[in-house]
Amino acid sequence: MDYRDNPEEAAFRQDVRAFIRTQLPDELKPGYVPPAGSRQDSGEIFNRGAGWRVWTKRMAEKGWIAPAWPKEYGGAGMTVMQQFIFNEEMSEARAPRAGGIATGFAGPTIMAMGTDEQKQKYLPEILSGEVTWCQGYSEPGAGSDLASLQCRAVRDGDDYVVNGQKIWTSGGHTAKWMILLARTDPDAPKHRGISYFIADMKAPGISVRPLVNMADSHEFNEVFFDNVRIPRANMLGEENRGWYAAQTTLSFERSNIGSAVGTRQTIEDLIAYAKEHKGTKSTLGHNDAVRKELAERYIEAQVALMLSYKIISLQAKEGVAPGHEASIAKLYGTELNQRVYRTAMKMLGLYGQLDRRMGRDDAVASYLPLRGRIQYSYLRSTANTIEGGTSEIQRNIIATRGLGLPRS
Ligand SMILES: Cc1cc2nc3c(=O)[nH]c(=O)nc-3n(C[C@H](O)[C@H](O)[C@H](O)COP(=O)(O)OP(=O)(O)OC[C@H]3O[C@@H](n4cnc5c(N)ncnc54)[C@H](O)[C@@H]3O)c2cc1C
Repeated sequence: MDYRDNPEEAAFRQDVRAFIRTQLPDELKPGYVPPAGSRQDSGEIFNRGAGWRVWTKRMAEKGWIAPAWPKEYGGAGMTVMQQFIFNEEMSEARAPRAGGIATGFAGPTIMAMGTDEQKQKYLPEILSGEVTWCQGYSEPGAGSDLASLQCRAVRDGDDYVVNGQKIWTSGGHTAKWMILLARTDPDAPKHRGISYFIADMKAPGISVRPLVNMADSHEFNEVFFDNVRIPRANMLGEENRGWYAAQTTLSFERSNIGSAVGTRQTIEDLIAYAKEHKGTKSTLGHNDAVRKELAERYIEAQVALMLSYKIISLQAKEGVAPGHEASIAKLYGTELNQRVYRTAMKMLGLYGQLDRRMGRDDAVASYLPLRGRIQYSYLRSTANTIEGGTSEIQRNIIATRGLGLPRS
């Protein structure tokens, strides 16, 4: 494996770096402390401020809201290696990404299954970066076993009438549209009775209730459907074929490089902090065990980076679509992230428990290690091994599809 960029890749990397250096607004740069009382300050991570809007607009002008989308649909048409470089540089700069569910799930499904009207209506809006989408898949009784979902959609003239509940809907409180999976044939085998809809989050009968996570951040929600009318024109693909529509993906790079870079940066931050505060504000200076743990985490972060390089090498150079390899990177990266923050909390002791929002108080700020980022990230990292498929599900994929072991 050759880790070096070829001349085109090196030039592209420079282009991405220059763009971030000159265009990323100050308030999105690492270390920015939001004003007291602002929405960001209250932990509302989906309610982004003016800087975010400026950044999204600049990304849209550059055509970088949807790096993986084909150019014919207004995307950047990047190769998987360009996406990798783009994602790596954005992570190195700790620059936030635009797109999310809209570019990752909704857009590709509309491109593959949508009518011309649907493409014209939704794709330009996504590419402008001005609206967000949410994903209404999970339900209280359907997560890992998603195909057992029970939210019902019943045909009534030109509409479907939807009743049921979704849960863990990230960004549901700010999204304009939802990609919704609902059961249209309760008598069919479970994968074959599901349809795929686009729901207007302002439609009468939809109510969104916040779920505040233990890091005190309002990120996801419960969404209830009470006789919500969704026009037939908002169905994507054929009735009862929604499960298969939901599998649509583009040629995304799946190396997990963003997470691997983020983990390495956190460890570097911790090492720098430990050197700067020998024996004070951290237990590291007089704790041999923590020092050894940090060394261990540093090695593991290198392993996570190597896993990402291996995947992008498979994907870009050999044209292999990663399957269980992506599960290995997801599983290893998310469990490592949790280990890193546990080590960090040990190292920082009681100072590690100070909340990031205390940073705006000058009297407290000087006691706040790494601007309080560790406390938040320690709590938030718990969700990493659940979202996007739990660790147990990843292990099942690795065992069956990767190692060829029989299903139980
Ligand atoms: C931060 C966050 C954001 C999310 N955002 C969204 C969103 O925007 N939209 C959305 O639709 N969903 C979202 N989810 C939901 C997420 O997809 C589910 O939480 C996830 O798929 C697990 O489903 P579940 O919570 O129902 O747990 P369950 O599937 O009930 O699992 C419970 C436990 O049983 C284990 N388990 C389940 N099946 C097996 C098996 N076959 N073998 C071994 N162990 C098993 C699991 O690993 C887990 O430990 C989000 C979740 C989180 C944490």
